Amino acid sequence: MTTRGFHAFEHAACTQAALWDTEMVERDGGLVCAACGYAADSPPTGTLADCFDLKHRQWGLRADPHVWYELKERLADVPTPDDVEATLQAAFRDVTGLDLATDTREMVRLPELDHGGMSGGFVDLRWWRAKGIPLMVERATRGG
Ligand SMILES: [Zn+2]
Repeated sequence: MTTRGFHAFEHAACTQAALWDTEMVERDGGLVCAACGYAADSPPTGTLADCFDLKHRQWGLRADPHVWYELKERLADVPTPDDVEATLQAAFRDVTGLDLATDTREMVRLPELDHGGMSGGFVDLRWWRAKGIPLMVERATRGG
């Protein structure tokens, strides 16, 4: 897994950017925030806030951002554990009631996360397994 890729990621919670120009762009061989210059290879903080500094520009389904922000709320202050993936999966289970390791469904609708729209309330388990969790693990373990 690599954080390189054209317009694939954005700087989460960038204080300098409007919503649409937070993308991470290639510069001097690294990936930096187009708005504030935050570098993807900045040293980790040692908390799980590191999982949430970048996010995929493309979510899976409508409920995924709600889950992502809920995870951030819960985990940002937690010191980075040895097994980041297991910690993320446990928190995901707390938030959604779904077990990423054993649930073989591709998507699940959670009525409590339905804020309207075509795919309202749907969590994309494929996206979390293939993209969401791997990026968060990579961010929290970078440089380690
Ligand atoms: Zn930024």
